[in-house]
Amino acid sequence: MTVIQETKDVFTPQNVKAAALQLAEHLSQDPWARKDAAQIHNCALRTRDTSQQGCHHPHCPICQHQKAYNHGNQIDCMFREEPWQGDSRWVVVTFSVRQCQVTELSECLEAMKVAFRRMTRRRFWKRRVQGALRVLRVDQGFSDANIAHPRFECVLLLRPDVSKDPAGFREDLWNNLWRDCFREDFIAEVHPDNVEPIEQEVRTQVKHATIRALRPRTPPTSPGWLLNAMPQMDSFRWMENFGVLRRLTTGAYAPNAM
Ligand SMILES: [Zn+2]
Repeated sequence: MTVIQETKDVFTPQNVKAAALQLAEHLSQDPWARKDAAQIHNCALRTRDTSQQGCHHPHCPICQHQKAYNHGNQIDCMFREEPWQGDSRWVVVTFSVRQCQVTELSECLEAMKVAFRRMTRRRFWKRRVQGALRVLRVDQGFSDANIAHPRFECVLLLRPDVSKDPAGFREDLWNNLWRDCFREDFIAEVHPDNVEPIEQEVRTQVKHATIRALRPRTPPTSPGWLLNAMPQMDSFRWMENFGVLRRLTTGAYAPNAM
C-alpha cells in the first residue's frame, strides 16, 4: 500500500504558538540550549508558505502540532485505501509507570522501551494485536517539579476475532501483561481510554485519537524540569509503529525525521 503524503500545512492555534515562544524563552536560560531556543523561536515567528519547512526540533510545539495532523491524515489515507480496517476494533491505551524522578528519566524510558518490546513478542499480544501506533509522552509532576510522568500512548488495532469478543480487551489482563514485562521494581499501569468498539465513523475517530496522542501539551513545563528532562529524552523515538501500522512510517514522517 502506498500512503499518500499530505504535507498541507495546518492552521497553528495561538496557544500552540504561545507555548512555542514560552518554551524558547525557557530554553534560552541555559547556554547549552540557546541553539534549540533560537530554532523553536524562529519556527514560532515565521509565516508559513509552501516553500518553508518547520524546524523539526523534537520539542517544538509548532512542529508537533503539524506532525499530529499529518499523521492523522495518513491514518485517513490508510482507511481510504484499505476499507477493511474499518471493520476492526481499535482501542486507545496508555501504558505507563507510576512515576519517576526526573533525574532518572532516561533509565526509566529505557526500561519502558525494553518492556514494550518484550510485550509485543508475547503470544498474548500477537494473538490480539494487528498493529499499534505508540507515542512517548513525558509530563512534569503535577505538584512536584522533580517528578516525571513518562508513558506510551497507544492506538491499537485489534485482530478481527478479538473484535468480535466483547471481553476482547480486558484491562486486568493487559495490566498483568505490562507489569510482567518489567523485570525490575516498577509500578506499571495500563489505562484504556477508549475500550468501546468504535463502530460509527471509525475513520474519523481513529484519526482524532491519533491527533490527540501526538499533539503538543500546552502550557509547557517549568524551565528547570525541561532542561533536566530534555537531554534525557533526545535519544528516544517519539513515535513508533508496529505490525500492519508499520507502513505508516514513511517519508518525511519517519521517526528520525521528527
Ligand atoms: Zn518547529
